[in-house]
Amino acid sequence: MTYAVKEAFLTLQGEGMQAGSRAVFLRFAGCNLWTGREEDRRKAVCQFCDTDFVGTDGAGGGKFADADLLARHVTALWGEGAERLLVVVTGGEPMLQLDAALVDALHAEGFRIAVESNGTIAATPGIDWLCISPKAGSDIVQRSGDELKLVWPQAGLDPAAIEDWDFAHFLVQPMDCEDREAAMAVAIALAMERPRWRLTLQAHKIVGLR
Ligand code: SF4
Repeated sequence: MTYAVKEAFLTLQGEGMQAGSRAVFLRFAGCNLWTGREEDRRKAVCQFCDTDFVGTDGAGGGKFADADLLARHVTALWGEGAERLLVVVTGGEPMLQLDAALVDALHAEGFRIAVESNGTIAATPGIDWLCISPKAGSDIVQRSGDELKLVWPQAGLDPAAIEDWDFAHFLVQPMDCEDREAAMAVAIALAMERPRWRLTLQAHKIVGLR
């Protein structure tokens, strides 16, 4: 298949249990919960997105005719000589495009594959680190993985109702919104009241990384 990539770049992972790790971010174009156009935001299932995933015009983006070409592109971004450790596959919704061929091709290049998905599409087997970030009003079919990252607050999502999902880590992340202080306060409150949840911050934004 042809893969549509919004952007791809080398950085440090900013969120979750692997925060601080060098990683190539591979951001696929497109999402099934929002078109990405501002005029559609209010009627979208997911309305708080902070990511531009429309098109293939970002740095390192483009259309890739097959999995091997895309995997070699990721390798080139990582750089020669350094041990290849981590590619973070995100979007948009990465499970719209991350198929078995690309999983195999990235593994063949020596990468561990971390994925950040909204959980509405079953994850492709072979992913090494699966982060699911549930969105209120969506049908979550992927209820197991490595980390469940709850962006908070979200009306219509009850943390207590998802605590029995099969994840190793339960993370609460303040929503990046106009009232950040209020979001931080309720995220801290959730972690204090329900100890299963650990506070995670978007460190890349704090330190000025992409
Ligand atoms: S599901 Fe994720 S990528 Fe899609 S609109 Fe929501 S935050 Fe953005």
